[in-house]
Amino acid sequence: MCPPISGNRERADRSTANEAFKLLSDETRLEILQALWEAQDQTDETPIRFADLRECIGVDDPGRLNYHLNKLMETFVRRTEDGYELMESGKRIVRMVLSGTAIADPEIEPVAVDISCWYCGGQPVWSYREGWRYLECTNCEARCVRSFPPGVISKSEFPPSGLRGRTPNEINEADRIWGAHRRASVMDGVCPECAGEMPVISVDICEDHQPDWDAYQFCEHCGSIFKMLVSHVCEGCKYRWRMPTLFYPSRHPAVVAFFYNHGIEFDLATYEQRAILLDFEEELLSEDPLRIRILVSFEDEVLGLTYDDRMELVDVTRDGVEH
Ligand SMILES: [Zn+2]
Ligand SMILES: [Zn+2]
Ligand SMILES: [Zn+2]
Repeated sequence: MCPPISGNRERADRSTANEAFKLLSDETRLEILQALWEAQDQTDETPIRFADLRECIGVDDPGRLNYHLNKLMETFVRRTEDGYELMESGKRIVRMVLSGTAIADPEIEPVAVDISCWYCGGQPVWSYREGWRYLECTNCEARCVRSFPPGVISKSEFPPSGLRGRTPNEINEADRIWGAHRRASVMDGVCPECAGEMPVISVDICEDHQPDWDAYQFCEHCGSIFKMLVSHVCEGCKYRWRMPTLFYPSRHPAVVAFFYNHGIEFDLATYEQRAILLDFEEELLSEDPLRIRILVSFEDEVLGLTYDDRMELVDVTRDGVEH
């Protein structure tokens, strides 16, 4: 079903998108973009002259090449004194195509990687299929969300271009770094796909939360092992991200300093430290206005962080004293 177009802005966005699709729905134009991409050096932007471009693409008729170049001009390609070159928008298009199709049949069978399961400490295996990478524990049947098969402790999108020339351990390492930066961007309200505004649209709190922590099974009422989940949606490209509230303290310097003072370089990007996150406690202080407190403790010291409905920090306390 085609959704109705609600406002002027969406109508304008759609007509711009239509124009872009129309511009690119021609083989010669795609070849032009690719030739300009290949012509540029990694360090140096070298424009390519008309005659060279014609030779690269193998177009006999200069009028035809000129016609297609003109179509791309102003949107994806610019002309300089030395020839033609890709604009940033043109580079993004080529990059997008390259990152999505870098490997013909990107499937990798499960292979053991050098990390341990943050639920049970067992050995996870890493695999890749249909654009998703999976971390599956070989020791437990953890099911932290309903949508994951049993044993899958983490599943996230990863572009095929990131697989090239890397061993499974190296891919796993690149994957966690890439994912951590994207997640941080979402928590800071900026879309990692298009740089648009990506506000919190909901904080969902399970009213009768009963996960099975001994077997690491999600709660039947909310479908997650975590009691509170935050959703962000990009206002520009509709990209969505949903994650436990427990991730948010990782962005605060007080938390990083707290662990650092205890000799721990706290970095949620490392899988080893996911276990620390599982020790955070959260409580609902009030519903209106929404106030959530997350308690971070180490030995007998406790740091308390209070958040509002947009996951903005309201206050920080240390052992009950405000800072
Ligand atoms: Zn496990
Ligand atoms: Zn629940
Ligand atoms: Zn976006």
